[in-house]
Amino acid sequence: MRPFTSTIFAEITELARKTGAVNLGQGFPDTDGPEGMLRIAQQAIADGVNQYPPGPGIPELRTAIAEHRRNRYGSEHDPDSEVLVTVGGTEAMSAAMLALLEPGDEVVLIEPYYDAYPVAVAMAGGVRRTVGLTQGPDHRFVLDVDALRAAVGPQTRALVLNSPHNPTGTVFTAEELAVIAEVCRENDVIAITDEVYEHLLFDGRKHTPLATLPGMAERTLSISSSGKSFSATGWKIGWICGPAELVAAVRSAKQFLTFVGGAPFQPAVAHALRNELGWAEQLRSDLERKRDLLSRGLSEAGFDVLSSEGTYFVCADVRPLGFTDGAQLCRELPDRIGVAAIPVQVFCDHPEATRHLVRFAFCKRDEVLNEAVERLHKLS
Ligand code: PMP
Ligand code: GLN
Repeated sequence: MRPFTSTIFAEITELARKTGAVNLGQGFPDTDGPEGMLRIAQQAIADGVNQYPPGPGIPELRTAIAEHRRNRYGSEHDPDSEVLVTVGGTEAMSAAMLALLEPGDEVVLIEPYYDAYPVAVAMAGGVRRTVGLTQGPDHRFVLDVDALRAAVGPQTRALVLNSPHNPTGTVFTAEELAVIAEVCRENDVIAITDEVYEHLLFDGRKHTPLATLPGMAERTLSISSSGKSFSATGWKIGWICGPAELVAAVRSAKQFLTFVGGAPFQPAVAHALRNELGWAEQLRSDLERKRDLLSRGLSEAGFDVLSSEGTYFVCADVRPLGFTDGAQLCRELPDRIGVAAIPVQVFCDHPEATRHLVRFAFCKRDEVLNEAVERLHKLS
């Protein structure tokens, strides 16, 4: 674990706390989820729903997850054998790696990657290979498909796809998804998809789960979580769906990690998946507006702002302001102007490609975003 002693989120959040900085670092909303959902969790605690729930998750939640995937994407899942409730998307990812990998098996990650992926691969004894998202035209990131083809070989067991993508805010295009699916099929690779931002896409974009592409349902484990869709990141109710054989393997690993979690939150999330998608749509459109507010503010403060197509995040190039290293800037920013942000290079095996990029979270109240923008103006 030596390479993984502390996370950037812990480091920057602590720095923000110490300095009283406006924290646009760690991605969590500063307002609560739907009231109906919160009330059900409170009632569940009052009603004594406080002991271990069933290992795979309560049937009501597994059924709601299967229904949600059917209604939204046309995917069919047996709630008993093809859906597993986990302690957030994070546990789902770790359990999937532990379930699938033999020591030395390779896993392809798309770089920059969410920080939990390389750790999950390492803890399972796997070896990561990374493929870069590169800055293309229109201020958006594009997948290097040639590098992807070159990275996959006989040792590759799995590929992780995160769309909408943290930290860049990229939504993979239909063409990119088609190439990823083709590479998985041709090389008999299992796809593990991280879809925790599945409800948070902007400008009319629609989320397409990789599992819905031809030949992919039988080789894909799809992960999602209630944290982002219903602004309850601290509840850590996530799930993983896929073919029964793969989900059974993940269940075996999961039962020895945490066994179960979040008993009173499970009925609340079941309710949210069934009744609060309108609330999630309102969140999505609020976030789209907040993305615009922060992007405009960053731009006016002198950053070169990249486009964010989904998630909580927007990335900005710090070079126009005379800085070269985003990590150094993020470590100075809280003290200097009272704003916290996350450097993108920490999510990379090849940090030089993203040294100039900093990630800002816009999942905050307008007054917080406005205050951050005002402070950022002091940089120029
Ligand atoms: N995947 C991505 C891409 C994330 O940004 C996050 C963090 N919110 C997670 C997974 C973790 O999800 P959870 O809190 O449900 O474990
Ligand atoms: N997913 C959140 C982010 O990317 C934070 C998760 C964490 O603190 N580990 O900012």
